[in-house]
Amino acid sequence: MQTAALFLSLLSLIYCSSFATSTNIQTDRDNPIGYYEGDPLPPKTAFLTFDDGPSDWTSDVLDVLKKENVKATFFVCGAWLPKASTRGNSFRKYKTVLIRMKEEGHTIGNHTLGHQNFAYMSPKRIERQLDENQKLYQNELGEYSGKLIWIRPPFGSPYIRTKNETVRKRVSSALQGKGLVFMWTKEFDSTDSKEWVKGEWYEKGPRIDPDNEKFRKKMDRIYNSLAYKTEGQGVVILFHDTHPTTKEVLPYIIEKLKAEGYTFATAEDYTKWRWGKTSEELSEEVSD
Ligand SMILES: [Zn+2]
Repeated sequence: MQTAALFLSLLSLIYCSSFATSTNIQTDRDNPIGYYEGDPLPPKTAFLTFDDGPSDWTSDVLDVLKKENVKATFFVCGAWLPKASTRGNSFRKYKTVLIRMKEEGHTIGNHTLGHQNFAYMSPKRIERQLDENQKLYQNELGEYSGKLIWIRPPFGSPYIRTKNETVRKRVSSALQGKGLVFMWTKEFDSTDSKEWVKGEWYEKGPRIDPDNEKFRKKMDRIYNSLAYKTEGQGVVILFHDTHPTTKEVLPYIIEKLKAEGYTFATAEDYTKWRWGKTSEELSEEVSD
């Protein structure tokens, strides 16, 4: 029974990969250069990625990564704060956290200024969302800033959610020459952004109680949704450093991956692995 199942899954793997190759050529031509679902990844390597920050929880995430000696990738937004806040400048508010992020060897990427869905935007607005985020980062971080070369489109859109070819092409042409796209492996979405309305959002405060049963359950769900899918393949895992569950569950996930022999890498490492170049060299080449 097991042999038959293995044979069948092998067959589908062969079928899928030959199928994927032919569509990938097409995809490679249309999409801006980067990592997309189905692209090659180094085996036994986990790329931990954190979207939507910085927030009150980011320094806790950095503490975990430092303790575990793991480098990761952060896709940051300059102005996606809760509505209650009027400041609208996360880069100013979390400047020291961002400096630390860089100094500790993590890759920092562009998640746009205001986290809007590219699928509903004109190419001009898409460009502005990326450029303004970069500008704000530069203004606030000064000598500690740098080019946010890697791009993670908010919601992964349109590469994950939208199947509409016209929309995908429009967004892709807007992103051409703007940087390198880094998506995640669909199965490795930590789902840690769900339920954020239930008392978990950005700022530390009395609403959050890690001993709360709901909180524990959410942690279990995140752990279970990730921990049993690794089979030695390369994975890009999506987390959000905007919720306390992320930093709570992170050490367990890292330990599990380490026990399976996984090593950890950043989007910058990926560039070197796949194209043999730094992201700066590669993006310059693409925008030429
Ligand atoms: Zn996001």
